[in-house]
Amino acid sequence: MALLLHDTLAREKRPFGPPDHPIKMYTCGPTVYDRVHIGNLRAFLFYDLLRRSLEWLGYEVRHVMNLTDVDDKTIRGARREGVPLREFTERYTRTFLDDCDALRILRPHVMPRATDAIPEMIALTERLLATGVAYRSDDGSVYFKIAAFPGYGKLSHLEARTLQAGAGGRVAQDEYDKESAHDFALWKAWSEDDGDVAWDAPFGRGRPGWHLECSALAFKHLGEALDVHAGGVDLVFPHHENEIAQSEAASGCTFARFWLHNEHLLVGGQKMSKSLKNFYTLGDLVTLGQATPREVRYALIAAHYRSPSNLAVTYEGEGEARRPVRFDSLVDARGALKRLDAFRRDLRARATSPAAPDGAHERLARARTAFHDAIEDDLNVPRALAALFELVADVNRLGAWDVEFAAAVEAFWDDADRVLGVLAPEADALSPEEQALFERWQAARAAKDWAGADAVKAELTARGVTVQARKDGATWTRG
Ligand code: AMP
Ligand code: ZN
Repeated sequence: MALLLHDTLAREKRPFGPPDHPIKMYTCGPTVYDRVHIGNLRAFLFYDLLRRSLEWLGYEVRHVMNLTDVDDKTIRGARREGVPLREFTERYTRTFLDDCDALRILRPHVMPRATDAIPEMIALTERLLATGVAYRSDDGSVYFKIAAFPGYGKLSHLEARTLQAGAGGRVAQDEYDKESAHDFALWKAWSEDDGDVAWDAPFGRGRPGWHLECSALAFKHLGEALDVHAGGVDLVFPHHENEIAQSEAASGCTFARFWLHNEHLLVGGQKMSKSLKNFYTLGDLVTLGQATPREVRYALIAAHYRSPSNLAVTYEGEGEARRPVRFDSLVDARGALKRLDAFRRDLRARATSPAAPDGAHERLARARTAFHDAIEDDLNVPRALAALFELVADVNRLGAWDVEFAAAVEAFWDDADRVLGVLAPEADALSPEEQALFERWQAARAAKDWAGADAVKAELTARGVTVQARKDGATWTRG
């Protein structure tokens, strides 16, 4: 078999093609205005799965992901706190990267900030003005004229929606309703709400619109024709539709060969989102003692990326007093990982036979093929995990084997983990957040702030880290 990926534009799985050239992969990054929640993290884990799978299958990948550090939300947040935009967005870039590291998400090769590519965005806007698909409005903003781009709507299959072009159908906000298409802002003229966030451009002082950012950054770091562009399903319209319009109107060539979208993480059947206030951050779950980052990773990748996945939670109390007491999906993840860990741990201990039993190597070969086929079939992680569990059951039935067979299974396990990134047990090191807490605990003790030290110690205990003060310095253990 060869790799098949589901392309949103074609609405079907298509062969991705041979690994005969470096793959240009662009994914939409976070808006750094707050801590991300685990719904957002499902998207970043999907990008990670896509990148790891491509590399595991022999492709060379160049992965670029933007950081949206200028938009309506970041400007509002920085102004509310009265801090410079960069200071505000750097804070949430750091917490985002800490979460990604804890979840073993490979860092993209390039993570450009939008504000570092303003000249490229201005240049792209000028190009669009020159080709006649963009126009200036009275206030000095520049809009993309969707009626001037014949392919508008091809990604999100807009036929049924109303096309509201022209002055009556313009939108200035970055995010807008999904029911109608509008001319959208490439460049927004400065308004009072923007405070000191503005750049000079030939067409007027202002700032870029959100959609423009991804096209300009993709062009800058990967060129005008991508192999694959990915994002959450809520970005199909208008964000990706607008990206296609701007990019293709400027370049004249197809922007991305493949469009991939992950489905949402739900809570109680509803999308996890800031606005519904039904969200949990990775830090919330770890601090509540509900899960380790590894268990969260497992829970979030175990469902197929194109299936909505529900975070099952058991609550106590009613109304305002309602509190989560158990995250059932995470309990399941813990159980699954325990089984996989026990299997891997005992492989050597049970290598007491002089030879492998009949059929042992065939079973391993079957698991290897099943795993490989599952990943090649649109990154089917549930099937890939099923292949592992089937192998666990098969091998356990064999009773005992030889050292060579144990080593062969271990090699398969490590190979599979290049894709899954979840089989290796939690590393015996502190995460950056835990390290910071450990240092705060020592500093509080040094300052004889015993109450402060106890509070930090409790936080570490909740994360499964036990600390101890000794004459020759402080130590920590996990578990
Ligand atoms: P944002 O920072 O809001 O632009 O979101 C970052 C990424 O998270 C985007 O790709 C969104 O599509 C994705 N996303 C947001 N909410 C969810 C959710 N509940 N489940 C899965 N992905 C999500
Ligand atoms: Zn984007």
